Amino acid sequence: MKTFKSLIFLLLTLIITSCVQDNDSRDPPTFPEDTTLVQKHGLLQVNGNRIVDKDNEPVCFAGNSFFWSNDNWGGERFYKSEVVSWLKLDWKATIVRAAMGVEDPGGYLDNNVSNKNRVITIVDAAIDEGLYVIIDWHSHHAEDNTNEAVSFFEEMADLYGEYDNVIYEIYNEPLDVSWSATIKPYADSVISAIRSIDPDNLIVVGTPEWSQRVDLAAADPITNYSNIAYTLHFYTIYHQQWLRDRASAALDDGIALFITEWGSIGYSQVDSEANEWMTWCFENKISHCNWAVNDKEEEWSILVPGASTSGGWVDDDLTDAGKLAKNIIKNWPE
Ligand code: MG
Repeated sequence: MKTFKSLIFLLLTLIITSCVQDNDSRDPPTFPEDTTLVQKHGLLQVNGNRIVDKDNEPVCFAGNSFFWSNDNWGGERFYKSEVVSWLKLDWKATIVRAAMGVEDPGGYLDNNVSNKNRVITIVDAAIDEGLYVIIDWHSHHAEDNTNEAVSFFEEMADLYGEYDNVIYEIYNEPLDVSWSATIKPYADSVISAIRSIDPDNLIVVGTPEWSQRVDLAAADPITNYSNIAYTLHFYTIYHQQWLRDRASAALDDGIALFITEWGSIGYSQVDSEANEWMTWCFENKISHCNWAVNDKEEEWSILVPGASTSGGWVDDDLTDAGKLAKNIIKNWPE
């Protein structure tokens, strides 16, 4: 808790400092009450190693990732518009991520209708609430099913290409496969299909070794298409300063990063890493989504077993990881 308080203090210090630098007045900007977050910031665009809004201002957003969407895995019970509304209302989330399982049992290849409908539920809810939303092809082997990914993202681009809310994440976590020989050709096929329908929304591409090898993407970035960012994932128990150093080097090399998934182990022994990571994200303007909206008995679930699947959670419904994530998301400067 002490560590978290120091994070908040640091964030507040940074906010105040940046306000002083950016504005003569410390008064926050005001917007009409009916302006949503996405109306305010519009289409997200990669500009160098930053993601900027419609006014070319670097932005970073904080929110939640849903769990695998697969039938009967448990996490699919939370794919409800009420949950999106609750995360916006109570957690002040500005982004959510629909993580559509693909190859594993109960995933898209088994049941494309149920899984796709879960994604649509979340995306429609995010659009209604004025939030950003990631459509994630939640796969570890996407190159094995390129045609299916192409069809899915064509459908999503048809449905949602006009909405500034939507971000396409075409490959969650590649395993130990070649960036240049395997992932990049897959990405080329899927991006080409999306861009033939939707010329402009942000696309995020996973990187080798569970989206940790952003250095490999930085060494051979995708140059045939614009508005492409690269995925970085971290879990504080495994990934510490060495990964931040690698990610900082990738930023220095000129690519933009997006943390579509991260996990803490709550307020236990390594939560100082969550603090370190969030400070790094803030300083580098990197958006992040916390894994995961679920009540499964594992360290990264935000909810204790049996919590409501429709939001309305009180503190006792949250795990330590959930409480930590909520404090970070709720206090994240927009
Ligand atoms: Mg578009």
